[in-house]
Amino acid sequence: MPVVERGEKIAFKNAAERTLQDGQMRRNLRHATTVIRGKREIVVNEIDDWQELREQAKQIKTKALKNLPRLLEQLEENVKKAGGQVHWARDADEASDIVKQLAKQSGAQEVVKIKSMTTEEINLNRVLADEGIQAIETDLAELIIQLGNDESTHIVVPSVHWNRDQIRELFVREFNQPELTNNPPELANAARAYLRRKFLTAKVAVSGANFAVAETGSVGIVESEGNGRMCLTLPETLISVMGIEKVIPTWEELSPILELLPRSATGERMNPYTSIWSGTRENDGPKNFHLVLLDNGRTDILKDSVARETLHCIRCGACLNICPVYRRTGGQAYQSPYSGPIGAIFSPQIWRSERHFAHLPFASSLCGACADVCPVKIPIPRILTQLRYRMKRQSGQAGFFERFAIGLVTWFFMREQRFAWLLKLAKFGQVPFKRKDKLASVPLMGAWFEARDLPAVADETFRDWWKKNKS
Ligand code: SF4
Repeated sequence: MPVVERGEKIAFKNAAERTLQDGQMRRNLRHATTVIRGKREIVVNEIDDWQELREQAKQIKTKALKNLPRLLEQLEENVKKAGGQVHWARDADEASDIVKQLAKQSGAQEVVKIKSMTTEEINLNRVLADEGIQAIETDLAELIIQLGNDESTHIVVPSVHWNRDQIRELFVREFNQPELTNNPPELANAARAYLRRKFLTAKVAVSGANFAVAETGSVGIVESEGNGRMCLTLPETLISVMGIEKVIPTWEELSPILELLPRSATGERMNPYTSIWSGTRENDGPKNFHLVLLDNGRTDILKDSVARETLHCIRCGACLNICPVYRRTGGQAYQSPYSGPIGAIFSPQIWRSERHFAHLPFASSLCGACADVCPVKIPIPRILTQLRYRMKRQSGQAGFFERFAIGLVTWFFMREQRFAWLLKLAKFGQVPFKRKDKLASVPLMGAWFEARDLPAVADETFRDWWKKNKS
């Protein structure tokens, strides 16, 4: 099933060329994202003050990031007071090593996992497997990906590119149940029976965190299936890996985020399961709780006045579902756990040394649809252009011709009279390249024309028409 091989590092353009060959994946993805978008639109339109809520959430995130060091210290203090332990991880290796050591200390051969982007970011399953510890994904979509030896293609619904017939085939093979049909409740029950056995025997659970509240040291997860609740309550040890940007100051500030997240992510009015815990408790839930706070490049993002809003993300996936690029290429073309518009700005910032991520900010038409749907108002197109500028400058790729051409166009666009001259010049200059009402390739711009059409300047421009007709 994987279209792009695991561990393969190629540019987005080449990876996308491969994923675009997979017609079934494209059909499944188009269908699923259309359904989620439709549901989202209905529940968003029910809220009169949706725009105010978005603004409120943006302000909450901005304030939290401004006070991040103080909030993280407060969180640490309160987690410890409540009986938990806090570990700080500078990067992915440190974080996965901490989890690995904790799992080893507990003598676990298997750990149950709640769907989590941060554990994907630190490549935890692979690190645990190298130690002989098997990580069992308990979210249904993640389980499909794991059993199918596939790669995720969406940050909320990783197996969104699988249809029910493909899932049936997989479950028949993996659970040895030839009588299974492709009826979704039947498929879900087969997975449930498999997972129940895992929940009841696992000593360690690993989770991410959707948020943490500094004032009480509480950590929270939202999910739809109840698998998270099982992981958070049954095993003796719970290890949560959380990006440092997920902390918010108070409970009051959590409310708008909990309202925005389910509506944006899955088109639900509220999450079916919202689990929040503070440390440990006698005879109730895990005996040991460890919170791993992951930096992995986030403090560097924070230093950048434009790109820092990337850290506002609440991982709802709405920008993926609307993105015309993602909806065609799918998530595997991004070769990162973070795909779509958020992946195009987040991956190149946290994995700065990985060259193939430098292409991601260019994987966008800059249509702006992502910014319109983002519940925390992240200006994704502005960050994309900032990253493009930075990457071109760093790589020295902006050659003399490109800089000259952009300078020239800027000069023409700065004055109305100059723009009028440009149109006249273009009308004559385009003749050798004109094919009906479009331009075919223009010298030195071949690559640009590979994937785009440029309309020819009309024989009668609007300016000409206006001059003739204004009286
Ligand atoms: S960038 Fe915005 S829309 Fe995209 S996943 Fe993050 S919060 Fe959701």
